[in-house]
Parts: sequence; C-alpha cells; structure tokens
Amino acid sequence: MDSKEFRKRGTEMVEYICQYLETLENRRVTPSVEPGYLRNLLPNEAPYKPEPWEKIMDDVETKIMPGVTHWQHPRFHAYFPAGNSFPSILGDMLGDAIGCIGFSWAASPACTELETIVLDWLGKAIGLPDAFLALKEGSKGGGVIQTSASECILVTMLAARAQAIKYLKQQHPFVEETQLLSKLMAYCSKEAHSCVEKAAMISFVKLRILEPDEKSSLRADTLKKAMEEDELQGLIPFFVSTTLGTTGSCGFDALEEIGRALRKFPNVWLHVDAAYAGNAFICPELKYILKGIEYADSFNTNPNKWLLTNFDCSTLWVRDRIRLTSALVVDPLYLKHGYSDATIDYRHWGVPLSRRFRSLKLWFVLRTYGISGLQEYIRHHIRLAKRFEQHVLKDKRFEVCNEVKLGLVCFRLKGSDKLNEKLLSIINGSGKLHMVPASVNDRYIIRFCAVAQNASDNDIDYAWETITDFATELLEKEQDDDFVEITEDPRKKHTLAQKRSFFVRMVSDPKMYNPGINTPRISTEIASPTRDGTMVTLQSPPHESSWISWPLAFLFNSTDEGSSGKNDVTLRFRHLDVKMGSSRRNSATGNSSPSPEGDNGILKSPKKSPQLSRKRGTSPNPRPSDGNLS
Ligand code: PLP
Repeated sequence: MDSKEFRKRGTEMVEYICQYLETLENRRVTPSVEPGYLRNLLPNEAPYKPEPWEKIMDDVETKIMPGVTHWQHPRFHAYFPAGNSFPSILGDMLGDAIGCIGFSWAASPACTELETIVLDWLGKAIGLPDAFLALKEGSKGGGVIQTSASECILVTMLAARAQAIKYLKQQHPFVEETQLLSKLMAYCSKEAHSCVEKAAMISFVKLRILEPDEKSSLRADTLKKAMEEDELQGLIPFFVSTTLGTTGSCGFDALEEIGRALRKFPNVWLHVDAAYAGNAFICPELKYILKGIEYADSFNTNPNKWLLTNFDCSTLWVRDRIRLTSALVVDPLYLKHGYSDATIDYRHWGVPLSRRFRSLKLWFVLRTYGISGLQEYIRHHIRLAKRFEQHVLKDKRFEVCNEVKLGLVCFRLKGSDKLNEKLLSIINGSGKLHMVPASVNDRYIIRFCAVAQNASDNDIDYAWETITDFATELLEKEQDDDFVEITEDPRKKHTLAQKRSFFVRMVSDPKMYNPGINTPRISTEIASPTRDGTMVTLQSPPHESSWISWPLAFLFNSTDEGSSGKNDVTLRFRHLDVKMGSSRRNSATGNSSPSPEGDNGILKSPKKSPQLSRKRGTSPNPRPSDGNLS
C-alpha cells in the first residue's frame, strides 16, 4: 500500500469507524456465536498472494463483527468502561505512524519526555502528593505508563520484594535469598482484583487475603492483626495492596487508617490500586476518597478505563523511582547512552524493553477535553449511575447492594442467588444489555456500570425498563412447573458451556473462582531460615477470616487431584477446556452460521417487550460457581 492508497483507505476507515460508532445500538451488545466460529470462516493458511482491500473489509463486517462484544455500545454495562474517544484514537494513530520504540531517552527523546510531563499533569490533576511527581524540585518519584493495572501491581510488588530481600540480606548475610523469599508475606483484601494474586504468584511470594468489612472496605485492624500474627510466626510482611474502587462493588479500603497503621511497619510497601476510581479524583469533590495517599509508596489508575483514553494506558506513580528501578534494571552496553545519568529510561520501570508512544493519546485527550471536560464526563457518568440507583430504589422487588459513589451500581432482586443468576442470564442472552455479576458480602449481585461516553438518561431508562420487564416475566414464570431450569437441562448443557466462555461471570472474589484457595493443601507449615541458614518449620497461623494464596498452589492442587478431573486448575483455566479444534454446529439452527439471531450480529427487530422463552434460556448463564467447561 503506498501513501496514495493509504490516504484513500484511511479516509474510508475513518468513515467506517464513525458509522460503526454512530450505529452501534442497532447491533447486539454481545455476540451470539460459539467457540471456534471464526475458524470455520477463515482459511487455515495465510494468503500467499495479496488480497484486495475491499475483500478484507468485507470480511471485517461479515466475519469479525459477528464475534465482537461491543464495549462502546450504549447498552454495555459490564465490567468498567473501556476508554475510547476520537482524540485518543487519533493520538494512537499518530503514535503508530511515528512507530518509535521509546525504551530509553536516546531511543526517542520526545517519547520519554512527553510521558514524564503528561504523567506529572495527570498526577497533579488527581491530587497526588508532590513526591510522586518527577519534575517537582527535590522529588525522587515519578510516573510511568504501563500496559495494565496488573502490570503496575506486579512491578511494584517486584520492587517491594527486592527491597525486602535487600534489607533481610543485610540482617542475615549468610542466608540464601530464596530462603528469605519464603518468609515474605503480601496482603490484600478479598475484594482486591485477582491481579494481586497473580502478581504474588509471579513474584513467588505468599499473599494473605483478608476479609473486608460489610462495605467491602479493608480495615486497618484486620490488616494489623494479620501482620502481627504473621510476624510472630517468623514471617515478614513486605507489601500491602489496597484498593480504591474495588472491581466487585466499587468499595474503598480504609487507606488513611491503613497508612497510619503501617507506620509501625516502615519497611512495608503500601500500594494503592485505583484502576477505575482513580480517574475520578480529578474532580475536586471526590478527592476526599484519596485521603491517606500521603502514606502510599505507589498508586495506579487506568485512563484506559475511565478517562476517555484507549487501551493501553495504565498510569503508575511511585514515591521513589530508584526503589522501583533497582528491582528491574539491567544495563547491557548496546542500550547505554551518553545521557543515561541525566534522563529517565523507562525500560527500567517495567517488564518490556520496547514501549509504544502511549503518552501521545493521553496528551491529545488532556488537551482536547481539558481537565474541565474530563471532570464533566466523570460527573455525567456518576449522574447516570445515580439515576439508575433511583430506579432500583423505587422498585420494591429490588435492592441496591453498594454505596453508589461513582459510576457503578450493584443491585439484585430480593430473593435467592439463583433467581438473580437466572435474571442476569436471561438479560445477557437477549443481547439487549450486557452486565456481569459479582459476589458482595457472599451474595450474588448484578453490576450495572455507566460505560458509554455519550450514554444518556434514555439509555439508563431503557436499561431499567428492560431489566424490569425480564424480572416481571421471570417472577411470574418462577411459579410455573413447566419452566425449564436452564442450567439443568442436559441437552443444553454443552452449548451453554461453550457460550459461557464468552462472558466472565464473576468479577474478582478469588474465593469464588478458586474455592480451593481457602484450604491450602501444600502444607500448613512454613519453612523459615535461621541466621546460619538452616531451616526451622513454623505452623501457619490460625487466621479465621483470611487465607493464604500460595505460589503455584494451583500446580500442586492439580497433582493432588489430577485424576478426579475436578480440580481447581480446570476452574481457573477453564478456557483451556474449550476444544477449539472441532467444527461447531449451531445447536439452535443446526448449521454452523455464526449468528443465528441475525446477519452480522445486527438485531433484526429489537423488541420492546422481552419475552421469556425456552429458546432464550440457552443464553450464556453468568454463574459464579459453575465454570467447568469440560
Ligand atoms: N484493579 C482493579 C481495581 C480493577 O478493577 C481491574 C480491572 O478491572 C484491575 C486491577 C485489572 O486491570 P488491568 O486489566 O488493567 O490489568
């Protein structure tokens, strides 16, 4: 493709994107396809000869779009928002065109310097202490863009681990680092995102997962008690990950209380994960939630969630950049440059060497909307969430299950978990709305998040109307003996299992996706090194309301129970159980069309009043405990 054709195709692509976004609501929110659908539609080999552009674009509409979940759809209310806006798309386009790989200042000075400046801008707007800003006089801190919040938490945990080992090595110079490692304990709440557990697995450290209070808030007393008990057992607390805006219910850990409590543990790294909520702190009236940040060592938020910036753009700030980079630095000759001592080289701030010019899109967004425009956007979503909350509160059949501070409302039908599972299953299966569940205070709840950039009051009212229509019908049918239990019909089980793989049914709550986590089976004894390097064995402390996530516990569990076919590995890695190789036939129509509901995933005739039917009962069923697809 030469630049003449690029100009033409680029113009067409912009037109296609505008059309797509402007007409999104005519499509199903979620696709109605089964695993392997695309394999049946595309050839097994890459084309040997060049193909015409028109043919490729034709395939986009007929083959790709039917399998797309439309995260920008005004009826998409699942998870948290996937940031998107025209200035961000254009910024990314330019970054892609420049195509630099900015791992060091010398590799592309503007790429590095813009990232530092933009992160200082955003850090200031959020209200982070000066110590986190790279360009403040006397500051040792700074910000960096990572790919994801998971990566932010991983690198801070790795940094904390390195600090802890360094400190312990000074105390016990003759003890092997690996033995010191076995004593380290990280902490988080049960409501923390599962990426904290993943970071602990990668870092090969134990993680104590603590029970929050009834508002999904981890309290200092709980944390302090666990840390003190662990210390008595010879374990060494080294990292605490708190959450502001939990994934399940947008709860807030008691940061200030925890920060104060951690003054007794000066070597413990305090991280604040505000992947979603952190963006909202650009609004002055919400900054109170950030109270206690002055105690933190690091903070992350994802503009690619709630700040109109496309993935990937996850921002991390640290109070002491040397403590972060000393855990990650490697310095081969071919990457050194003459200004190494005077500049930031972001390759030392994360896992990958290569880095895209991601600050461009954030810079475009910050300048195009201004902080005031972004504040308006955040406030708009909060207003929409409050409107939805009011709808729920007015209907006596429902209850609200979280304190609605930002854009997430957790609600449920008053009744059993099963009833709520059914309701959500039917709604998601209709393709009219998309929401996901969570477990809050051990109850199954439905999450409704304001997501689309330009969502309106009408969208919220439509969503509520759809939910209540389905609920009314479900409650009526509940009494009907003839009602087919959608999860117990063996004829439909196979199809359901496949369909479920498209939807993460339960956000967060490690106990749900890994029940085995409650009862670590490797050993309740902990090997602890003595000063001379020999090992003594300690009993795991008897916490009542917490449990330890052990590194690689899943592998051990799999060995324990491998033969039963019902181990926790299949639960967690359930997607591996879906056999993509075989040709799937659509069970509803008997053919292998990807879209039984309509061409290209477009809803042919959106019905105002939804009907509960047996056929609709084959929809994806968001159940937390039934993840085994085998
Ligand atoms: N932390 C919180 C609080 C989240 O809500 C999420 C995702 O929703 C994550 C971390 C993981 O984010 P990422 O996908 O950027 O790794």
